[in-house]
Amino acid sequence: MPIKKVEKIWMNGKLVNWDDATIHVLSHVIHYGSSWFEGIRCYETAKGSAIFQLDRHIRRLFDSVKIYRTEIPYTPKEIEEAILATIRANKMRSCYIRPVVYRGYGDVGVNPLPCPVDVTIAVWEWGSYLGPEALSQGIDVCISTWNRPAPNTLPAMAKAGGNYILSQLMKVEAIQGGYKEAIALDVDGNLSEGSGENLFVVKNGIIYTPPLTSSLLPGVTRYSVLQLAEEAGHKVRETSLPREMVYIADELFFTGTAAEVTPIRSVDNIKVGDGKPGPITMSMQKAFFDVVKNGNDTHDWLKFIYND
Ligand code: PMP
Repeated sequence: MPIKKVEKIWMNGKLVNWDDATIHVLSHVIHYGSSWFEGIRCYETAKGSAIFQLDRHIRRLFDSVKIYRTEIPYTPKEIEEAILATIRANKMRSCYIRPVVYRGYGDVGVNPLPCPVDVTIAVWEWGSYLGPEALSQGIDVCISTWNRPAPNTLPAMAKAGGNYILSQLMKVEAIQGGYKEAIALDVDGNLSEGSGENLFVVKNGIIYTPPLTSSLLPGVTRYSVLQLAEEAGHKVRETSLPREMVYIADELFFTGTAAEVTPIRSVDNIKVGDGKPGPITMSMQKAFFDVVKNGNDTHDWLKFIYND
C-alpha cells in the first residue's frame, strides 16, 4: 500500500516536516540492520480516537532495544507523549504508528556503540493489510521454505529491523507463488508464525498457538486474543505444534496489528475445514473489533487521544 504523506514526523525530540525526515546514507542502520521498531494502530472507535495497547507496544520497544544492549535516550513516558504529539500534529483520527529506534551516522564498521541512537515516530493512514476481503473471506497461505531463526541466533523476541530480511524472503516467495502470506516453521520443523503475524490453530474446539520457544514475536494482538479467548470460555493452549496441524485444523487464523484477526482459508492449496472462515475465528475477530471499533474497553487497552 503506497504511503500517504502527512505533515509532520517526530525526529529526536522535534516535529519536522515530512519531506525533511531524512537520514545520511552512511547511517549504521542502513548497512547493518541496527533498528528496533513498533507497529501500533490508532482507531477511530465509536467512543473517539484511541490507540490500542500503547503501553504494551512501548514496553516491547524497550525490551527489543535492551536485548541488543542499547538504550533509548528517552523514557517510556516521553515516547508515549511523542506518539500522542505526532498524531495530534497531523490531526489524525485513525492511523498506523511507526516508532523506530536506530543506530545513526557517526562511525563505520560493525560495532554499533560509537553511533548515536536516533528515534523517529511517523504516522500514516492505513487500511486492511492483507487486502479488503481478507478479514471476511480469509486468505490463502503456504508453508515457507524458509525457517525462523534457531535459538541463540537472531533473537525472535526482539522486533529488530534486521529480522525482517527473513520476513521478506518468506513474503516474496509466498506472493510469487500466488499466496497472500506464508507460515514459517521453527528450526525443529514446528509451527512458528507468519512474516508479520502470529498464528492460531483451532482443532476440536480448542484454540492453540505456538509458544515463545518456537521463535516468534510476542505479538500484542496474540496476547490480547489469548485473553479474549479465555474470557469467552474457550480452552486455550500455548504449545508446540507440528506442521501437519495446519492441514487437519478446523480453523486457522493470523493475528497482528496490521492483520488484526485474519482467517486463513487454505494452506498449500489444502482447504482449512470447509474453506470458509470458521465460527471461533469470527467470534474472536468480533470480540477484537468490539474493542477497537466499538470502543468497548473493559481491560484499559485503549488510550483515547482527543478530549471529545
Ligand atoms: N510476528 C511478527 C514477525 C510481526 O512482525 C508481527 C507484527 N508486529 C507480529 C507477529 C504480530 O505482533 P503484533 O500483534 O504485536 O502486531
